[in-house]
Amino acid sequence: MSDALLSLRNVRRTYGDGEGAIHVLTGADLTVSRGEIVALVAPSGAGKSTLLHICGLLERPTDGEVDIDGERTAKLADRQRTLLRRHKIGYVYQFHHLLPEFSALENVTMPQLIAGESQSVGNERAMALLDALGISHRADHRPAELSGGEQQRVAIARAAANRPSLILADEPTGNLDPGTSDTVFRALSDLIRKQNAGCIIATHNHDLARKADRIVTIVDGKVHATTL
Ligand code: ADP
Repeated sequence: MSDALLSLRNVRRTYGDGEGAIHVLTGADLTVSRGEIVALVAPSGAGKSTLLHICGLLERPTDGEVDIDGERTAKLADRQRTLLRRHKIGYVYQFHHLLPEFSALENVTMPQLIAGESQSVGNERAMALLDALGISHRADHRPAELSGGEQQRVAIARAAANRPSLILADEPTGNLDPGTSDTVFRALSDLIRKQNAGCIIATHNHDLARKADRIVTIVDGKVHATTL
């Protein structure tokens, strides 16, 4: 067992079978440590989302090992994977996916209630997170009343709500203008450092990727270190 927060070993992912099979990951290795932000930069179709889904236990690899915080996940039942995901992993998508009929505060409180937290503790933590991300003054607003940058900061707060050790972000600033992207990235990285979590952020934004601790790419289904 290693100290790594996330460890992928020889991960393969094939969609379909026979002649039409698509071999997206062909033996991917990747390790992420606590407090580390790894940028994932690769062309569209290279397998970034597939890799993140596998890291986030949203998808199973065709073959290979995925360890989260030292725990082997390959043989876990779906129920155990769901629990592990709920407590250890936070996910941020390109589009915020906030629940439209609930306020920012409720969107951040809800995952905590699902994980068994009380309403008062959940609310308090949600408010603290919104405050840390500079949007507590928007706590009572619904997503439609927020700007794109504010929506993404709420989505980051929601991803962090259950104190995950790993945050996975799939092009979280893909939909934002450069200035707002910068603010959102800074909010995300401050949070990662504060919580001593680990993070993989898939992005097409090279300026942001350079601010990560290291940059990796996917070539022919394998993960490689790279520079931009
Ligand atoms: P990226 O995020 O880098 O754009 P993806 O991981 O979304 O790449 O996709 C990588 C490749 O895998 C693409 O060719 C895509 O069409 C294919 N793919 C992804 N998901 C599926 C699926 N569920 N079924 C079949 N092919 C898929």
